[in-house]
Amino acid sequence: MKSIDISSKKVVTLRNVESALADGATRVVVGAGCVVTPSARDFLAQHNIALTASGNGKTADPEPAAAHASSGKSGKQGKSAANPRLFSTPEAEAIKKEICAVGRKLWLRQFVDGNGGNISYRIGPNEVICTPTLMSKYDLTPEDLSLVDLEGNQIAGTKPRTSEILLHLEIYKAVPEAKSCVHCHPPHATAYAITGRVPPNLIIPEFEVFIGKVAISPYETPGTAAFAQTVLPYVKQHNTVLLSNHGIICWGDTVTHAEWYTEVLDTYCWTLMLAAQLGVPISHISEQQGADLLANKKRLGLPDVRFDTSKMKECQLSDSEVPNSIALVPEPCDGGTGKPANLDGKPANLDLDALVKSVTDAVMGTLGAK
Ligand SMILES: [Zn+2]
Repeated sequence: MKSIDISSKKVVTLRNVESALADGATRVVVGAGCVVTPSARDFLAQHNIALTASGNGKTADPEPAAAHASSGKSGKQGKSAANPRLFSTPEAEAIKKEICAVGRKLWLRQFVDGNGGNISYRIGPNEVICTPTLMSKYDLTPEDLSLVDLEGNQIAGTKPRTSEILLHLEIYKAVPEAKSCVHCHPPHATAYAITGRVPPNLIIPEFEVFIGKVAISPYETPGTAAFAQTVLPYVKQHNTVLLSNHGIICWGDTVTHAEWYTEVLDTYCWTLMLAAQLGVPISHISEQQGADLLANKKRLGLPDVRFDTSKMKECQLSDSEVPNSIALVPEPCDGGTGKPANLDGKPANLDLDALVKSVTDAVMGTLGAK
């Protein structure tokens, strides 16, 4: 029997065990507590190579990766240990290809820059496939992806998972229907996010049906738990959230659909900007026609804050009657959070008289409230 010691590695990959076989190994010694990827484990089994944890001479835990995940920081009772085998199923392989294709779409549409943006898919109750950190979304291959549990512990894959996975995981924990999240920095939607505005409604039907009311979450440092939690007040009733001074996140039932929402939102914001340059008011869809669209949306099973009649008082079908709603004045629209998060989205093409009247009304409203 020839043993090869690779216990210095924290993650043992297919490549590591392939080279061990090439060196004639019949036994591989790995470090206690290291992660052995599912593909490496399958390869060892196929070639009858024993897997041994260093130090004890015994056969290694048959599921060290799962054990690693269950000993994570969550401390929550009753949650099943993440299953690293879900990372190498035919379904997982198809999802990985879809994520890579979506990554290229995001890059080609200039929705991501540098290593920006991240994509994930919940493949099991406690298992999420995600993109790695520090990679352009154009260059992704299935081998670059990894599997994490809902606490963010990486349980399979060789490249470190994205640091922004916590944002996705908060959404998966809060919204059972969310199967995929796409986060990116599309320029036109991000222009709204850096000016503290959300786009107005009742202008283009596709936007009403697929997205509708957009929320905007307060700024926090990306990658932190505080940042991840900024979206929690909104994600049950919005599939799309503007992240202040950052970008957007969308969730959907598939990776492709979540990416579609990024396109619908950015194109909508872009179209509004172009229309604003024409110097004439934008015409709106009527409230009744808007209600028809909302009914269609309900049939499609898409979320919308306007389905919640208790919030309709604060967040009308159209946003044209929101009081004191001048540009750049934060106006909570989702109710109850107490944070200046969801802003009214007045069209950017207000004429001067309307703007002056709006400012005056806002100031008078503020004075009157004191
Ligand atoms: Zn980002």
